[in-house]
Amino acid sequence: MLSWVVRRTRLPLLSLRCVDCGSESATTGEGRFRVNANGKLLDVWLLVRCVSCDRTSKLTVHERAPVRSLDPAELHGYRVNDPELVASRLLDPLLARRNRFALDWTGAWRLDTPPARLDEAWPVQVDVLFEDPVPVRPDRLIAHGLGLSRNEVLRRIKGDIPLRRTTNAGFTFTVMAGD
Ligand SMILES: [Zn+2]
Repeated sequence: MLSWVVRRTRLPLLSLRCVDCGSESATTGEGRFRVNANGKLLDVWLLVRCVSCDRTSKLTVHERAPVRSLDPAELHGYRVNDPELVASRLLDPLLARRNRFALDWTGAWRLDTPPARLDEAWPVQVDVLFEDPVPVRPDRLIAHGLGLSRNEVLRRIKGDIPLRRTTNAGFTFTVMAGD
């Protein structure tokens, strides 16, 4: 069995419309939070910047959250702009839903494959793991990973996942021998 790993190479951009210039793309840049304390309540935002005009907007991470409800380590992470926390909040589907943006993964990920040994015993089973929730189309990923055409993929791949439906969850497939 071979293992493939999908992982990010940088943070994805955000498809988010700028209210100033109408651009549809924003970035977290280095990744900065803003924390505002109001008595015992906290607001936490993740700052993003329009890639065309640099306008900054705030994505709500916590809104009027009781200080005690936040893990002190997490709160510290917000205050020091911990890069791991920036990534985990940005990739949290809840943040995207609440702030109405989608992630743009173009050029922000890669597929790691061990050296192919496809001349060995058939069939070969491949396990695809997702280290980050990058949405991929299995047929394209498999074609890329094996250096096959997409027609060959459709002919030679067996598995119980829909090959044309985008997924970001791990899956397994079997490559059958060629002609
Ligand atoms: Zn803009």
